[in-house]
Amino acid sequence: MNNQEPGTALGNILVVDDTPENLRLLSTMLTHRGYSPRCVINGQMALRACNSNPPDLILLDIMMPEMNGYEVCQHLKSEPKTRDIPVIFISAKDEVFDKVNAFAVGAVDYISKPFQFEEVLARIESHLTLRNLQKQLKEQNVLLQAEITSRLAVEKNLHEKNQILQEEISNRLAVEKALQEQNLLLQQEISQRHYVESALLKSNQELARSNAELEQFAYVASHDLQAPLATIASYAQLLEKRYKDQLDSQASKFIGNIVHGCTRMQTLIDDLLEYSRVGRSQRPFELVDCNQAIQQTIANLQGAIRDTEAVVTYNNLPTVMGDTSQLVQLFQNLVGNAIKYRHDAAPAVHITACKQEGNWLFSISDNGIGIAPQHQQRIFQIFQRLHTQREYSGTGIGLAICQKIAERHGGSIWVESEPGQGSTFYLTLAD
Ligand code: ADP
Repeated sequence: MNNQEPGTALGNILVVDDTPENLRLLSTMLTHRGYSPRCVINGQMALRACNSNPPDLILLDIMMPEMNGYEVCQHLKSEPKTRDIPVIFISAKDEVFDKVNAFAVGAVDYISKPFQFEEVLARIESHLTLRNLQKQLKEQNVLLQAEITSRLAVEKNLHEKNQILQEEISNRLAVEKALQEQNLLLQQEISQRHYVESALLKSNQELARSNAELEQFAYVASHDLQAPLATIASYAQLLEKRYKDQLDSQASKFIGNIVHGCTRMQTLIDDLLEYSRVGRSQRPFELVDCNQAIQQTIANLQGAIRDTEAVVTYNNLPTVMGDTSQLVQLFQNLVGNAIKYRHDAAPAVHITACKQEGNWLFSISDNGIGIAPQHQQRIFQIFQRLHTQREYSGTGIGLAICQKIAERHGGSIWVESEPGQGSTFYLTLAD
């Protein structure tokens, strides 16, 4: 019975037998059952047929001339191409059949003549099924191997990536640790700075308080001193006028000294009052054209400029926010000093301004006597003078007033100088 569809065969079977009758019989039976048999009559032909087109199964007669079935089977099993083809031996009943040798050379089974067709077919079928299962197993094995290899490759890749990640993690941990340490240091520094800042703030507040107290004291003292001083001076003058004829020359000189002392004291009090007024001023800031402030300064100093033949120059000064009269006073003190502390040559004073870090930097330079480095800071303190009255008149308050005005305008003041080389006073004012 053939249940196969046309064109498909249950299997390709090579029948090897030197007896044509057997060949015919087996071929008919196999064809009838849906197999596709090929028949050859000796061992050599069998080997050729297998090499050109390997069958799914071989029915191999044992007793054949020239090359018997054992030898054919041995040949087939020695070649990779034919090694896996299942071989079933055909033995005649009267033949001497060495089963042990048959299995030893690689046969999978044997059938005996005369054939029991159903048995032959059952054996063929079971060996073909076995062969197919083996084939499938092999293929699955190959697939599995490929899968294992690819999984191993993936695993290796993963392992490598994991290692890289581990390295990266430990690197990051190290960086994090270093950052934490730096952070800790920064925190310490910040708290130290906070501490210093609050100490500074405290001492600044203390300074401001004592400055205000000093200002208040200077104001009250100088204000209250004026009246008794005026009384002393006027009574001394009255004494001289009324008793002029009765006083000898020495007494007149003494009275003259009293009047002179009073005048000097009045100057000191006036300057002190001026100093205390800087911080007390309530005048709001306005736009001040510094060119005009300098022109006003020059006008105020006209007498001294004429007497000393001083030359005061300036160029392109800016306009700043400030207190006009205080800025004029500041420039006047600086230009006045530049003229007062002159050398033999006529004073030459030059004023410039340039932008620096958001501020205006003014310079007032002269060709005067200069100031030794060790005195350059203390001259800005109140009553600090470097000369006697006879050498240069003054109270030692002018630069202290300048510093106060500069600070009130958010700036600062300092000097650079060499004795005999002139001086340059620098002043910063907020833009
Ligand atoms: P005063 O001029 O009344 O003495 P200041 O406070 O204006 O007071 O100046 C303080 C001191 O600084 C002066 O006594 C003088 O010795 C010095 N000084 C100020 N300006 C100059 C200058 N341009 N050149 C040299 N010395 C100066």
